[in-house]
Amino acid sequence: MTSYSLIIDGQKVETADTFDILNPATRELVGKAPIATKADLDAAVAAADKAFQSWSRESNETRKQACLDMAKVLEDNMGELSRLLTMEQGKPLGGMGSEFEMGACMAWAGAQANFELPVKVIEDSDAQRIELHRQPLGVVASITPWNWPLMIAIWHIVPAIRTGNTVVLKPSPFTPLSTIRMVELLNTVLPAGVLNVVTGTDELGQWMTDHDNIKKVVFTGSCATGKKVMQSAAGTMKRLTLELGGNDAAIVLPDTDVSKMAEKIFGGAFINSGQTCAAIKRLYVHDDIYDEVCETLTKIAEATPVGNGLEQGVLMGPIQNKMQYDKVVGLVEDAKTRGARILCGGEPMDGPGYFYPLTLVADISDGTRLVDEEQFGPVLPIIRYSDLDEVIGRANNSEFGLSGSVWSSDLAKATEVAKKLECGTSWVNAHALIAPHVPMGGVKSSGMGVEFGEEGLAEYTDIHVISIDKS
Ligand code: NDP
Repeated sequence: MTSYSLIIDGQKVETADTFDILNPATRELVGKAPIATKADLDAAVAAADKAFQSWSRESNETRKQACLDMAKVLEDNMGELSRLLTMEQGKPLGGMGSEFEMGACMAWAGAQANFELPVKVIEDSDAQRIELHRQPLGVVASITPWNWPLMIAIWHIVPAIRTGNTVVLKPSPFTPLSTIRMVELLNTVLPAGVLNVVTGTDELGQWMTDHDNIKKVVFTGSCATGKKVMQSAAGTMKRLTLELGGNDAAIVLPDTDVSKMAEKIFGGAFINSGQTCAAIKRLYVHDDIYDEVCETLTKIAEATPVGNGLEQGVLMGPIQNKMQYDKVVGLVEDAKTRGARILCGGEPMDGPGYFYPLTLVADISDGTRLVDEEQFGPVLPIIRYSDLDEVIGRANNSEFGLSGSVWSSDLAKATEVAKKLECGTSWVNAHALIAPHVPMGGVKSSGMGVEFGEEGLAEYTDIHVISIDKS
């Protein structure tokens, strides 16, 4: 079995203690992850801090080339990383699984080379010249979750490095191995210390958010943990980007062409078996087409193969971990006791893994846990409505505000509804359609700050104004 080590200052660092990583499809051992001590974290931060002194002074061209080099490394090692990702995360190799995730990693890494944050001349008059410069921050801590481990890591680390920062990355303890291997490979094209990775026990994240020499935390995960990160980071006034949970509503208007849109709605809800922050988690369907939508989605769900992601033809894997599996089972059982109708799925599947079938739940409404909470699994509540203004209010009646969507044959009308949703992104006739050049972030409890595009890049910098009095 391959052994995994911390990567600090470009070197593998072995630890005395390790923890087991199990395949969620088989519950067999995939590998052992290292447990970093506080001293290991300090060494990683010190290496990143040292590397920052030179990396932050590198030319724009050198940093752009580093993004392209990282994209090439990801491309060259796609086969190995995809397979390891499937084994520890559970998602299939094909479909919207590991190879898709690796494709996104390459696209996002390479795209950072195209973005610029040039010096902005605010005023250049006879009296004065005022310039706005963007300065890198220092050591950035990246804390990532288990649903899209590699893609989210790339979203954090490449813009940080592009803008002259250095990184200490901490993956989720559920899925650390593919991240460690990816960091090892990326280190072949980066100066030592620019990108470091640590894994360990529960204290590690808090040690990072408290650390004096870490200047920014970029965190993707649950709202509850995001709030703890914010509290802990306050002591040292760290910059923060928080991408937290969502409970995205999709509103299907009565004029929607169901046969044309159903696959897209299904994909928007069940991407990564629903374990996606910006997936459809509440589907509001107009009374006129409610039965047609339920029937069409049921046919698609029943025809979608669920199984071990390494097997050919599988399109959906298991739930990633026991905690999440228990949460999904609990939400569906609660919905049943509240009189909801199970259209398909609804009972755990056999096997050693955490398999749960694609589940559609009808005749359910707001006020049930499955609608009000983030299920983060392969279950979709389909909620009937008849009044448009009322359903917009119900969609907005949530602590979350990540994204939402409106579905209709009338684009102008759907766009007007989309504008009324309280969220960071509203799609029309699409959901979870993200791109490297389009900023994305949540409102309300779904987070603060944005990722992607030049707006996302700017989050890894502080403003430095140079004001020259010419008199
Ligand atoms: P968490 O938010 O707890 O974990 C995400 C990351 O944060 C992990 O790397 C975790 O590592 C770390 N972490 C946990 N506590 C702290 C802390 N106090 N300070 C710093 N870092 C910390 O998510 P879970 O894995 O526990 O999942 C819980 C729920 O979050 C899910 O049920 C789902 O609803 C939601 N979720 C949302 C995601 C999204 O993309 N929006 C992604 C994943 C989950 P460690 O545990 O080692 O500390």
